[in-house]
Amino acid sequence: MSNAPVIVIGSGLAGYNLVKELRKLNPTQEIMMITADDGSNYSKPMLSTGFGKNKTAADLAMASAADMAEQFNLVVRTNTRVTNIDAAAKKVFVGEEPIEYSKLVLAWGAEVVSPRMEGDAGDSIFSINDLEDYAKFRAAAEGKKRVLIMGAGLIGAEFANDMATGGFEIDVVAPCEHILPSLLPAEAADAVQNGLEGLGVRFHLGPLVTRVCKEGDALVAHLSNGQTIETDIVVSAIGLRPRLDLAVKAGLQVNQGVVVNRELQTSEPDIYALGDCAEVEGRVLLYVLPLMASARALAKTLNGEATAVSYGVMPVTVKTPVVPVAVAPVAADSEGSWSIDVQGNDVQAEFRNSDGQLLGYALTGAKVMNKVALNKELPPLMP
Ligand code: FAD
Repeated sequence: MSNAPVIVIGSGLAGYNLVKELRKLNPTQEIMMITADDGSNYSKPMLSTGFGKNKTAADLAMASAADMAEQFNLVVRTNTRVTNIDAAAKKVFVGEEPIEYSKLVLAWGAEVVSPRMEGDAGDSIFSINDLEDYAKFRAAAEGKKRVLIMGAGLIGAEFANDMATGGFEIDVVAPCEHILPSLLPAEAADAVQNGLEGLGVRFHLGPLVTRVCKEGDALVAHLSNGQTIETDIVVSAIGLRPRLDLAVKAGLQVNQGVVVNRELQTSEPDIYALGDCAEVEGRVLLYVLPLMASARALAKTLNGEATAVSYGVMPVTVKTPVVPVAVAPVAADSEGSWSIDVQGNDVQAEFRNSDGQLLGYALTGAKVMNKVALNKELPPLMP
C-alpha cells in the first residue's frame, strides 16, 4: 500500500464497523473518514423506536466523531462532503481540495426517495434517515398531536407503532393492498395492521397522497381517491435507494447499487463499497447484518488477505412491538408456495419449494419464537 491513507466515505454503521474491524487487524494503518454529517456514532435502527422510549437525538448518539477518532486512531473529517472521485489519480475531492488515498471505501449509504407532492406544506413533510433528520423532526413534532405517515413498509410501520406509543394520533397512507408488501404475505401483514389499529393507527391503503396544503395551524392531505385527512405533520417513509451519483460520475459500474464482487471491490480495483450503497452479487440489502459481515470481510481484504464476504441466514425483525415480526424474505425468483397458519395475530407462514425445502418465512406475534428453529432449516443467503 502507498503511504496515503485508506479513506472511508461515510460514518454510518458500515463505515464505523469497517474501521473497528480493520483496527483489530492493523493498529497502524492510516485511516481517514470523511463524512457529510457530524460523525456521531449511532445505531440507525434506533431512529424508529425513539418516540416510544422518549429519546432525543443526543440520547441516541453513542459517541462523538472526536471520541471515535481517538478510540480508533483515525482522522475524521466531519460535515465534509466528497464531491468527486478521480479513480485514475486515486484522489477524492472535497470541492477543489484533492485528497490522495491508497484504498477507497464507499460507505455512503442510501438516500430517501422524495415524494412528488403538490401543495404549500413541503416544509412540514419530513423523512427520517439520519440523526440530524430525527432531531429536526422531533423539534417540529413538539406540541403536535397528529402525524400522517406516507408508506407502509418496514420504516412506515415501525414509525406508526413508535409514534402511536409516543402519544400521537397516526394516519398511514400507502398505495398497497396490505402493509409491509415486500416483506410479508397478506395474512401476516393483516395481523400487524390489526395490532397497530389496536393502538389507534388508521390505515388508508390504496391511494397516494397527491397534495398537502396548509390550512390555518393544520395541514390537509389530499389523497388520489378524493379523500382528505387533516393532520399536523407528515412523515414520508416511501423508500430508500442506494446513493449512486458520485459513483456514476467516477465511472464506476452501478446497477441498483454500486456494483461490487464478493470481495466488495467495485469495477475499480482500489475502490470498495459496503453497506446500503453496495450491490453485492446482485443483492441490495438495506439491513445491518449484511453490512456487519461485509465489514469483517473487507477489513481482512484491506489488510492484505483477500476475503470474499458470505451471508448466512439473515432474518429481518420489524420493530412493531404491538405485534412483533420476524421475517426471512423470499427471494423474488423463488419457486414454491406458502403454507400459512393464522391464530388471531399469531401467524406462521412458511414458503417451501416442491422438495419441501424452506426458502423463507414470516412470523408474527407469539410465533416469532419459532424463528430459531426455522433459521436452522434455511439455506444461507449467500454461501
Ligand atoms: P448510512 O447510515 O446512511 O451512512 C451513510 C454515511 O455516508 C453518512 O455518514 C453520510 O453522512 C455519509 N455520506 C453520504 N454521502 C456522502 C458524501 N458525498 N461525502 C461524505 N459523506 C457522505 N436495519 C436493520 O437491520 N434492522 C432494523 O431494525 C433497521 N431499522 C431501521 C430503521 C430506520 C428508521 C432506518 C432509516 C433504517 C433501518 N435499518 C434497519 C437499516 C439500517 O439502519 C441501514 O441498513 C444501515 O444503518 C446503513 O448503514 P450505512 O452505513 O450503509 O449508511
